[in-house]
Amino acid sequence: VYPPAQEEADVIVVGGGVIGTAIAWRAALAGRAVTLIDPGTDDTASLVAAGMLGPVSESAFGEQGLLALNLHAVDRFPSFNAELESAVGQRTGLRTEGTLAVAYDSDDLVALDRLTEFRHSIGLRAERLDAKACRRLEPFLAPSTRGGVLAPGDLSVDNRRYLAALREAARTQGVKRRTGTVTTVESAAGRARVHARLTPAVGAPEAEMTAANVVIAAGWATGQIKGLPDGIRTAIRPVKGQILRLRHPAKLPPILGHTVRAIVAGHGVYLVPRADGELVVGATQEERDDRDITAGAVHDLLRDAMTAVPAISELILAEASAGRRPGTGDNGPILGPVGTGNLIIATGHFRNGVLLSAVTADAVAALLAGGEPHQAWAPFHPGRFG
Ligand SMILES: Cc1cc2nc3c(=O)[nH]c(=O)nc-3n(C[C@H](O)[C@H](O)[C@H](O)COP(=O)(O)OP(=O)(O)OC[C@H]3O[C@@H](n4cnc5c(N)ncnc54)[C@H](O)[C@@H]3O)c2cc1C
Repeated sequence: VYPPAQEEADVIVVGGGVIGTAIAWRAALAGRAVTLIDPGTDDTASLVAAGMLGPVSESAFGEQGLLALNLHAVDRFPSFNAELESAVGQRTGLRTEGTLAVAYDSDDLVALDRLTEFRHSIGLRAERLDAKACRRLEPFLAPSTRGGVLAPGDLSVDNRRYLAALREAARTQGVKRRTGTVTTVESAAGRARVHARLTPAVGAPEAEMTAANVVIAAGWATGQIKGLPDGIRTAIRPVKGQILRLRHPAKLPPILGHTVRAIVAGHGVYLVPRADGELVVGATQEERDDRDITAGAVHDLLRDAMTAVPAISELILAEASAGRRPGTGDNGPILGPVGTGNLIIATGHFRNGVLLSAVTADAVAALLAGGEPHQAWAPFHPGRFG
C-alpha cells in the first residue's frame, strides 16, 4: 500500500528530449493526464543533434532490425511532423532535398557503389552520379570530388525547432511540466511511482508521485535511475558527440542545398543545411562521458568539412556543442514494459533519436492503450537485456 502521493497523473514521463516530449504530447492527445519531469538544463542530446533523418546512413550494414525500424520511421516522420506543425502553427524546417554522399578516391567510389546497390536491394532510391553531376547539384563541392550517390528519400529537420514545436504542442495539449530529476521508479499493484527532486522543492527533499504508467525516456542518463533492472541500467551508456553550427554572413546565399556526407582521409563528416542559413557540421563519436569541446575535434571537423566544401571557410563559426547519445549494448533502442508492466522504457535511440521520435511516440501510445507496437519494434524489447 502506498502512502499518499503528492501528485497523481495517468502518465508520468521522465525526460523532456524529443523522445519524452513526443510521447507526452501523443499521450495527452489520446486524452490522458500527463506530467513530464525534466531538469530543464541544456544537457539534452536532442538539442545538440544534426537532425538528419536518413534510414541507411546512420545504421551499419549488418543491423537489419535497426534498418527496418529506421525505414518505418522515415515513412512515418512527414505525417507526424505535418500534424505537429499544424498543432502549433510553427515550421520545424523539414527538408526533402536528400543526401549527397561524395567520394575523393577509388576506395571511396567502391564504397559508394556498394551503398547504391544496398539501397536498391532494400527498395530505396539511389542515383550514382559522376563528378560533374555532383558539382552541378552542389557547385561548391571541392574540385577533387570524384563522384557521389544521391539519396533523394533522406530527410532532415531542424532538431531545435522540432523539439520547441513538440514542447509547445505538449503544453497546449495540457501536459504539465515539472522541473526536476527522477531518482527512483517503482511499480506494484497496478500503479507506478517515482521519487523526484523537484525545483522548487515541495516539502520533503524528494517528492513522490504516482501514475497508472511511468514512461522513462531520460536518454543516456536512464541508466542512473534506480529501480530499473540492472541488465537495462548497464546496457545504456553515453556516447559523446561534438558538432559545429556555422552561419552564412549577410548577403551570402546558402552554399549547400543537400545534406552532404563525405569520407575525408578515413573520417566521416556530414554537412546539414537549414533554410535559415545555418549549416551543421558533425560529428565526433567518442566513448566518453563529458560535454567538453576539444580543440582537436573542432579542428578536425572544420578541416574535413573544408576539404569537402572549401567555401565553408567564409562562414561564421557560430557554435560548438557536445551531447551524449544514448548508446546501448547492441546499438538498438530499448522500448517496452519492464517489471510488472506499468513502467515503460523508451530510450537507447543512439544516433537516430530524432528520426525515431515519431514512431517511438506511436509505439508508447499503443502500449498505453493496451495494444502492441508496430512489428518493427519486436527486436527492441527490454527483455533482451534481462
Ligand atoms: C552530435 C550528435 C548528433 C546527432 N545527430 C542525429 C541526427 O542527425 N539524427 C538523429 O536522428 N539523431 C541524432 N543524434 C541522436 C539524438 O540526438 C538522440 O538519439 C536523441 O536526442 C535522444 O533523445 P532522448 O529524448 O532519448 O534523449 P535526450 O535528448 O538526451 O533527452 C533526455 C532528457 O532527459 C533528461 N533527464 C535525464 N535524466 C533525468 C532524470 N533522472 N529525471 C528527469 N529527466 C532526466 C535530460 O536532462 C534530457 O533533457 C545525434 C546526437 C548527437 C550527440
